[in-house]
Amino acid sequence: MEVNHMQASFDARSVNEGLARMLVAAFMADMNPTLEQLADVKTAVSEAVTNAIIHGYSDESRQVRIACDRQGGELMVTVEDDGIGIADIEQARQPFYTSKPQLERSGMGFAFMEAFTDRLEVESCPGKGTRVVLWKYIAEDCEE
Ligand code: ATP
Ligand code: MG
Repeated sequence: MEVNHMQASFDARSVNEGLARMLVAAFMADMNPTLEQLADVKTAVSEAVTNAIIHGYSDESRQVRIACDRQGGELMVTVEDDGIGIADIEQARQPFYTSKPQLERSGMGFAFMEAFTDRLEVESCPGKGTRVVLWKYIAEDCEE
């Protein structure tokens, strides 16, 4: 079974949303994803990274960490921050819930992450940070 791991950290600046998308796309390339799978993962990663930047931190020099893990045809992506955290995760995951309506956010980030992945886990501790882990099954692992 093919396995691979990468991790990176970057400033909590919106310019780095694209960087995170590209990192994950490059990591996945070796797994021969369909264009749809690639787009799904990039969208989900963007939402998680945007949340870390917008909600997690107020200081752009703080770090967002991303990790990619491949196990055969399964991709796992972890996006973590050490920011303010989420007090009520169940509420935060509800479609249309946003704590920042004044910023014209729609509250659909977690709903999109859920829709575009096969599994989504959110762990958070107020004052400590948030970890979002998403899984996408790219292909059955077959011997070549
Ligand atoms: P949208 O993603 O549609 O622009 P949104 O970011 O408010 O709006 P979600 O991405 O679904 O919506 O997130 C819901 C809520 O969860 C946020 O409004 C915020 O309160 C909280 N949240 C999400 N990610 C984090 C994070 N990394 N740190 C702290 N709070 C977070
Ligand atoms: Mg969001």
